[in-house]
Amino acid sequence: MAGDLTRTLSRLIESTGPISLSHFMGEANTHYYSSRDPLGSDGDFTTAPEISQMFGEMVGIWLADMWLRSNGQSDKDMDLPSNRPAYVELGPGRGTLANDALRTMAQFNVAPEVHFIEGSPVLREMQSAVRPDATWHDSVETLPNDRPLLIVANEFFDALPIRQLVATHAGWRERVVVRDGEHFMPLPGSRPMDAAVPETFANAPAGSILETCPAASGIAFEIAGRLAAQGGVLLVIDYGYEQDRLGSSLQAVWKHDKVDPFVDPGERDLTAHVNFAELARMAQARDAHIDGPVDQGAFLKALGIEARANLLMESAADQQDTISQALQRLVDDDQMGSLFKVMAVRSAGWPEPEGFGKA
Ligand code: SAH
Repeated sequence: MAGDLTRTLSRLIESTGPISLSHFMGEANTHYYSSRDPLGSDGDFTTAPEISQMFGEMVGIWLADMWLRSNGQSDKDMDLPSNRPAYVELGPGRGTLANDALRTMAQFNVAPEVHFIEGSPVLREMQSAVRPDATWHDSVETLPNDRPLLIVANEFFDALPIRQLVATHAGWRERVVVRDGEHFMPLPGSRPMDAAVPETFANAPAGSILETCPAASGIAFEIAGRLAAQGGVLLVIDYGYEQDRLGSSLQAVWKHDKVDPFVDPGERDLTAHVNFAELARMAQARDAHIDGPVDQGAFLKALGIEARANLLMESAADQQDTISQALQRLVDDDQMGSLFKVMAVRSAGWPEPEGFGKA
C-alpha cells in the first residue's frame, strides 16, 4: 500500500526531475517519525533502552561520574551564569533512556535541566508523558548557552539523511532517485562530482559508492563548539564504522525485517551506518577530545552492567530469565554488543571517561 509520500515524491520527480538520495531519505524519515511510534516489538525496531532499564542506568552512571569529576569546568574558564548542567538528548524516542539515566543521576545528587531535540510531534507527546519537565528543541542552535551540557545520542545519527556519490566510467556523480514505473530507483546523476571526492578514493572502480552524512557532520561540529565554550560531553551510541571506507550502508527496516529502501518511502525506517571517524574529525576541529569508539558490550561491562543485572535478578526472582536475556541482547557479540559502538566527545578541560578501557 503506497503512502501519501509516494504520491508527493512521484509528482515532484515528474515535474522537476530526479531528486538527490539525501532529499529522498530526509523526506522519508521526516514523514516516518512524524506519523508514528516506530519502537518496540509491535513496531519496526527495538533500541537498547527499550530492551532494559539497565542501558539507561549505565548511561546515567557514566554521565553522573563525568559531571562529578569535572567539577563543572569549562576549559575556557568561562564565567557561566549557571553551574547546574543540562541533560540533552538527541532523538529521545519514547523518553525511556532519559528517564532511566536521569533517575540514576539523581541517586548521585545530579539533577540537570532536561532538554530534548526531537522532530516528531508524536514522539514529543510520548516524551512529555515521562519527562514533563523537558524543554523541546528543533535543533542544537537553541540549546541553553549558559551551562555545561551532558549530551546523549542513541540511534540518532543513523537516522539522518545521507548523500551518496557513485563512481561511473565518466567520473563521480551524486546518486539521485528517479521513478521507474511503480517504483523509485537510484541512478547516477548528471552533474560531475569529482571535486567532492577525497584523493584516497578518487580512482575507485566504477560502481563504488562514497557515503557522507552532512547533517551528522554539521551537528558534531556545532556540538563540539558548544562543549568548548560551555564544558561538557557528548556520548554517541550507534551502529557504525571506525575508518573512512567505500560502500552503501543504506537500509530499510519494517516490522523487524530488512526491506527495500526505495519502496514505500515514509512507511519504513531508513538508516545508514555512522562514520565515527568523520564525527571525531569534526569534533577535533573544535579542540574536543575523543574516546573510543569501543564496542557497546565492552562499554556496558566496564560500567558494571553485569553486577547490576545480578542485583536486579536477586530482587525479582520471577524476572531472572528476562533480565539475563536482556543483558545478553545488549552485550553479546552476536547481538548488539559489537555491532553498536560508543564514542565520547568531551571538552578539553574534562577528565578521561570510564568505560573506554583506559583505567
Ligand atoms: N534514541 C531513541 C530513539 C531512536 S529512533 C532510542 O534509543 O530508543 C530516532 C529518534 O531520532 C526518534 O526520536 C526520531 O524522531 C528522532 N529523529 C530522527 N531524525 C531527526 C531529526 N532530523 N531531527 C530531530 N529528531 C530526529
